[in-house]
Amino acid sequence: MEVIDCDVVVVGSGLAGLRAAIEAARVGGPKLRVAVVTKTQPMRSHSVSAEGGTAAVLYPEEGDSFESHMWDTVKGSDFLADQDAVELFVREAPKEIIQLEHWGMPWARREDGKIAQRYFGGQSYPRACFAEDRVGFFEMSTLYTTCLRHDNIEFYDERCATAIVHEDGGRFAGVVAYDIKSGDLEYFRAKAGIIATGGAGRLYPFASFGHSSTPDGLAMAFRAGIPLKDMEFVQFHPTGLVPSGILITEASRGEGGILRNSKGERFMERYAPKMKDLAPRDIVSRSIMTEIREGRGFKDEESGYEYVLLDLTVIEPEKIVKRLTSIREICLKMRGIDPISEPIPVRPVAHYYMGGIDVNISGATEMPGLWAAGEAACVSINGANRLGSNSTTECLVWGRITGAEAARFAMSHDDPDPTMATLQQEEKRIYDVLLGPAPRVDPYDVKAELQKTMEEHFHVFREKGSMEEGLRKIRKLRSEFEMGVVDKSRRYNTNLVHVLEVDAMLAVSELIGAAALHRTESRGAHYRVDAPKRDDASWLKHILLRKTAEGFAFDYKPVVITKYQPQERVY
Ligand SMILES: Cc1cc2nc3c(=O)[nH]c(=O)nc-3n(C[C@H](O)[C@H](O)[C@H](O)COP(=O)(O)OP(=O)(O)OC[C@H]3O[C@@H](n4cnc5c(N)ncnc54)[C@H](O)[C@@H]3O)c2cc1C
Repeated sequence: MEVIDCDVVVVGSGLAGLRAAIEAARVGGPKLRVAVVTKTQPMRSHSVSAEGGTAAVLYPEEGDSFESHMWDTVKGSDFLADQDAVELFVREAPKEIIQLEHWGMPWARREDGKIAQRYFGGQSYPRACFAEDRVGFFEMSTLYTTCLRHDNIEFYDERCATAIVHEDGGRFAGVVAYDIKSGDLEYFRAKAGIIATGGAGRLYPFASFGHSSTPDGLAMAFRAGIPLKDMEFVQFHPTGLVPSGILITEASRGEGGILRNSKGERFMERYAPKMKDLAPRDIVSRSIMTEIREGRGFKDEESGYEYVLLDLTVIEPEKIVKRLTSIREICLKMRGIDPISEPIPVRPVAHYYMGGIDVNISGATEMPGLWAAGEAACVSINGANRLGSNSTTECLVWGRITGAEAARFAMSHDDPDPTMATLQQEEKRIYDVLLGPAPRVDPYDVKAELQKTMEEHFHVFREKGSMEEGLRKIRKLRSEFEMGVVDKSRRYNTNLVHVLEVDAMLAVSELIGAAALHRTESRGAHYRVDAPKRDDASWLKHILLRKTAEGFAFDYKPVVITKYQPQERVY
């Protein structure tokens, strides 16, 4: 196995990974070698698809405040967010917006020339900074070009990281990655590392994620003995375009769009009289599914998906053309619908994972020398339900924090001494897949069946018996799955990458299912029809899943409460 030496290895090149790489390179200076190991080409990372905005308090003199952003986030999280982390987040957010501006980010402008902001779900003030409805694309190109200006950042594209390596004493010692182009295994020996591999991704068939978004990083961390936290909380964004699942940004409702049922009613008035269509996502998604279940939806005969309508015809056409450019283009190309004159068919779509690798307020994992940032991490500012436009900000804030921490750690530590057994085991694991017999079960069928199971048993509404059945199905799929490939070629063996991804998807789905069954209450995005109330006495705590010889065990962490005691969420 080829050894590539560096000081800091960043796994993933989305917003969190790129922001972390820049900060590590800046803090460490030109001598610190930063390697970015990434499964895709950086500008193909999932972050590119972020649409509507990035939240920050920019104009306190006009009425917004840190207090308000913090309260919205904590209330939106159904009081499961750690309030010390939320406070840090809201205070650091504006600095990141200005930093991006200095690096060339083309933020949309107000008439007076200042950065423009708009409303997003659950945010009580228009604080989402945007660039048309392509905020992710512009942020990513700004960060990527900034990375390219640093000679000490080296990109290793199309590398699928497969294992975290550590020393006998437990300190981080680098990662193993499979070079998709050549078929070689490489060991990135590093003093410090940052996992920024994004969320659990496409565990559901109707999802807003790119196909390369799979929970590799989460599975890798779990296998290395690092616990995962809050895994039961999966966010369903209210408006995925039917039947593809492509996201129709919340900014559509931020700009004035309205949800309607088959009777033409603006039904959100009944569920959230004050915030209506701009209530937090868990509430809007549940309301849509309730309308559908009670027979006030529509049905797409071809896909079988039931849906409601998102009506943008109430917005001035000029605003749609200028501020919802991509949304109009997506509707025209994918459905032949012009939202200026016709409503859009939408239903809740798997969109974000509040849970992830357990980290402390600095983004540090339990493994010395290893940090995690972005959607892969659970810090936790999102608790049981993330507010729209907070995730891109989180990637920037904790990208910066973890990049700086990892650089300082690397500068004050010697080269690591890896456990050779891990390297040998990993080499054997990958080459056994490549050289061993072809699998008897088709991994593509397993993936489709897994996604169907997640959709059927772990969707917006959950119930004990159904979840037990879902977990049984996942475990059966996992036990029957075989790590093997039909395609034995070395170069661009996407079959092998797919098998590694499905293995991770099965492992992480089981953990999501187990955590969802374990939490016998309803909170945020986790709604159980058999336990419809929030139960603070028993469940105001994070659930951790720790690896054991038998599989996993539950552990708990208290929620950090500094300012706001839990209360009823009314919108
Ligand atoms: C359609 C859409 C629109 C959105 N709009 C908004 C918005 O307007 N505002 C907002 O705040 N949030 C938005 N979000 C959420 C937000 O975009 C994401 O949470 C965020 O971009 C995640 O960034 P990340 O850096 O953590 O991960 P990602 O961008 O997912 O990047 C993960 C990286 O890890 C790499 N990787 C994965 N596995 C491996 C592996 N095994 N080896 C090596 N590399 C690996 C990938 O190639 C990729 O480079 C949106 C999400 C979607 C789906």
